[in-house]
Amino acid sequence: MAIKTGIFDETQRITLARLCDTFVPSIARAPDPDGFWARSASDLGVPAQVEDALTAVPAAAQEQIREFMDGLAALGFPDASPEDRERFIHAFMDATPEALAGMMTFKSLTLLFFCGTPEAMTGKNPNWTTMGYPGPLSAPPSTPKPIRTIQPAAGGLKLEADVVVIGSGAGGGVMAGTLAAQGKHVVVLEAGGYYNEADFNQYELWAYQNLYRAGGLSGTEDGSLSLMTGSNLGGGTTVNWTNCIKTRPAVREEWARVHGLEGLDSPDFDRHLDAIWERLGVNDQCSDYNDPHKRLQEACEKLGYPFKRVTRNADAATYDPASAGFMGFGDQSGSKMGTLKTYLEDAYEHGAEFVVRCQVQRILVEGGRAVGVEANYTDPSGATHTVTVHAPIVVLAAGALESPAVLLRSGIGGPAVGNYLRLHPATAVAGIYDEPQQAWWGPPQTALSDQFSDLEDGYGFLIECAHANPGLGAAVVPWPSGLGVKELLQLQRFASPFVFLIRDRGHGSVTVDASGNAVPNYHLDDPLDERHFRRGLQELVMLQHAAGARKIYSLHSRPMIWNRDGGDDIAEFARRVHDASLDPYEHATFSLHHMGSCRMGSDPGTSVANPWGELHDTKGVWVGDGSAFPTATGTNPMISIMALAHRTAEAVAAAG
Ligand SMILES: Cc1cc2nc3c(=O)[nH]c(=O)nc-3n(C[C@H](O)[C@H](O)[C@H](O)COP(=O)(O)OP(=O)(O)OC[C@H]3O[C@@H](n4cnc5c(N)ncnc54)[C@H](O)[C@@H]3O)c2cc1C
Repeated sequence: MAIKTGIFDETQRITLARLCDTFVPSIARAPDPDGFWARSASDLGVPAQVEDALTAVPAAAQEQIREFMDGLAALGFPDASPEDRERFIHAFMDATPEALAGMMTFKSLTLLFFCGTPEAMTGKNPNWTTMGYPGPLSAPPSTPKPIRTIQPAAGGLKLEADVVVIGSGAGGGVMAGTLAAQGKHVVVLEAGGYYNEADFNQYELWAYQNLYRAGGLSGTEDGSLSLMTGSNLGGGTTVNWTNCIKTRPAVREEWARVHGLEGLDSPDFDRHLDAIWERLGVNDQCSDYNDPHKRLQEACEKLGYPFKRVTRNADAATYDPASAGFMGFGDQSGSKMGTLKTYLEDAYEHGAEFVVRCQVQRILVEGGRAVGVEANYTDPSGATHTVTVHAPIVVLAAGALESPAVLLRSGIGGPAVGNYLRLHPATAVAGIYDEPQQAWWGPPQTALSDQFSDLEDGYGFLIECAHANPGLGAAVVPWPSGLGVKELLQLQRFASPFVFLIRDRGHGSVTVDASGNAVPNYHLDDPLDERHFRRGLQELVMLQHAAGARKIYSLHSRPMIWNRDGGDDIAEFARRVHDASLDPYEHATFSLHHMGSCRMGSDPGTSVANPWGELHDTKGVWVGDGSAFPTATGTNPMISIMALAHRTAEAVAAAG
């Protein structure tokens, strides 16, 4: 891949190439039937892909990256021997937090592209043969797109509506479908594009670039957590793993008692949950266990922990477990019952209008009341056109990372806007087994263990499984050395990742930068949360051991790897994993669940919307997504978001 307009000069490019080839070097080893050992990062054009990815980061960060490259060059890194370059990397990781951040960023990007990018000629990445990854199994079908979207022209677009919905994910989809079915004229504005089965090509990197926010690679301001969230028509429900869990009774009771959400603890909320359950066709007929689930089941049975099958929003008539393995990249089989195939179609059938690639900038307010929104539509050439929708009701459903940014740009919402960002901090511990595990096959989440879900005051963690996708899975593999990382990569076909997600008691925030872009901030600094996170790491190690793993590794930047054959003490290893640093870039921590940043509650000082979802300070603006949660659910949140949105839609209708 040739870079036309990159961020580096020629000297910096040489340093980048040396760095990538130190992370993934060519190693002479026989036999090497697939060329895996001989193949370096440069052989696959990885340095150019890394530079291309970095063109998307803000200008100030690009300047720091260039300084990082210059610093390496000044120390003689490009001309050093391969052994010395490895020593450089380890010394840099130990030097300063900034140097660690730089090294981990380049390591992750190098491995992401080395194992994730398909070659143009074959459509496959050559490392997949060794890794055992099959690559796409089928071409996209020619499924028509049932929703006709409006394409604004150069002069801009003005629309009139009863309701304008910002964002079309779990919450926005339900709000749009429900209100349109009640006779409201609804306009849906979605920042992402419209993709369906005909586009879902089963490629991981294509999906990150087209279906996820910020190319799938966004994080908190200090890099402590990676945040993955969908951005397309259907939002998170187009790419998510379809694990359907109803809101726990204790959480419902807390939201009612502490935050004033009337009826949450009564059968009235069951009605909303049931309505969602039915429309999504949630069932337990499409929950096959793949190998990681079988390992987790064996471990739970051995340790006497509960192991429960989960229900999914999948259509049993079209469900195909092999195809379900790619559902994080959009579901080609059409069995995923996200909002794209349910509530958004309902809205369209009831006359709703849709504009995609349309990012709402601000909510328009007159006399303390919403009167509409102003947005930017980006056409295929990259040109932007203004879209204005006049509507007395605005539903904010841009997801918990972006909804507060819309309010902050609009200057409304009160003092709590962006505060109380709740996440489910999560990570994986991988086990390497004697038999192939194919951790990319089948639905990613079909069972869980809630053994540790209530360790203290309703807080704890759930244990689940996750897919090992070739790119992202490689990006988080520990890097002991060039040889060491290749040894781990060639074992990926034998890897089963177990994950946990904690219900956080602490919280972060979303602010905006000078350009008005959302900036999520989050530190795992609540003592209870940190305790639970560390405990989760320890328990995952013990579960992998109970399931018979022969090698176990965590996702710490300073590799922590246990070997059965080395006679390592498992309890001592689990303790070391428990105690290791969780500082930014020391550990790969993720969150796929973002909540609470425009929360509902009765106190305008600590909440943004009232207990029915309308802003305390601005009539006509309703919060309809996961940002409305008063606290984290502690369970995969899609069903709770949708049920709460269903309740809010009724409140909007009742308000007239
Ligand atoms: C890989 C993955 C797997 C997951 N698996 C599960 C699972 O198995 N079970 C589960 O319960 N949950 C799962 N989740 C989480 C779940 O999908 C989300 O919690 C849920 O989709 C959030 O709903 P939401 O309405 O708050 O926002 P989203 O669904 O994120 O929708 C927000 C939409 O708003 C759009 N938007 C943002 N800003 C603007 C703007 N300014 N103007 C217009 N539009 C805008 C975005 O592009 C996006 O499409 C998963 C998430 C991911 C990423």
